[in-house]
Amino acid sequence: MQRNLRVCVFATVVGVLLTASHAAAEVRVVATTTVVADLVRQVGGERVAVESLMGDGVDPHSYRATPRDADRLLRADLIVANGLHLEGKLAQLLERLGRRRPVVAVAEAVPEAKLLPIGNGLFDPHVWFDAALWSYCPAAVAEALVKLDAAGAAGYRQRAEDYAKRLQQLDAQARTQLAGIPPARRVLITAHDAFRYFGRAYGLEVVGVQGTSTESEAGLADMNRLVELVVSRRIPAVFVETSVADRNVTALREGAAARGQRMMLGGRLYSDALGPEGSDGDTLEGALLANVETIVAALAGESAVVTVVDE
Ligand SMILES: [Zn+2]
Repeated sequence: MQRNLRVCVFATVVGVLLTASHAAAEVRVVATTTVVADLVRQVGGERVAVESLMGDGVDPHSYRATPRDADRLLRADLIVANGLHLEGKLAQLLERLGRRRPVVAVAEAVPEAKLLPIGNGLFDPHVWFDAALWSYCPAAVAEALVKLDAAGAAGYRQRAEDYAKRLQQLDAQARTQLAGIPPARRVLITAHDAFRYFGRAYGLEVVGVQGTSTESEAGLADMNRLVELVVSRRIPAVFVETSVADRNVTALREGAAARGQRMMLGGRLYSDALGPEGSDGDTLEGALLANVETIVAALAGESAVVTVVDE
């Protein structure tokens, strides 16, 4: 009896707390990916409640909305997406919802001249790992929030400005750390093409084992070309990603091994999704720094020596 009462009081207190924290938020935002949700949190502060449609480790290229997702999106005051076709399978739903709810595609705040064309009039959507490019996006989020919550305007704009400055500092830090990789080894081979902006910004040649979208399989001819590159340039490591299956990376390592070159697994990079809460990659800033450390250790560290078994 007493125990039941205690459980009941506990439940009431939790209920009141939940209601209170929910009531404190002026704007409810649903973001598509963890990367976008982080951006909204940095800008929104305490006035904004943010949830991410996709969890950590989810591949946005192939993600399809469930009926429950459609409900969550409909209840949001604001929907924030990356855009540039990152959320390939959500495009229709977002367009439909856009008639009833404000939808902001943050990557579209990056000036078009700075985007990488990928053919058919499309641009590479993976802008977030070039911290200088991502620094265009906080202001777009701030202005969308101001439209819904004018009382919070000064705070949103200040936080967006502060965050953009932090991204600029992060950009400089990444550049300095990556400068330690010797020129011959400045090749980043990863599971899919999520790092082309990163490579352009920080001076690494980037090769994806799979195309820009994880929807297309790497052909045998592409794989053979890649094995040739690895063997001829003595590339010491290949990287796996948190949101992409590793099978093509495994195929590449096996192909290189068949030609007598052992390739290390350089480690796991955050790509299209951040890490779970409490991990080193639970914010974009954390994920970018973790990636830089992983890459520097694999390509410039003591172990970055290629072992060639008889050819
Ligand atoms: Zn991707």
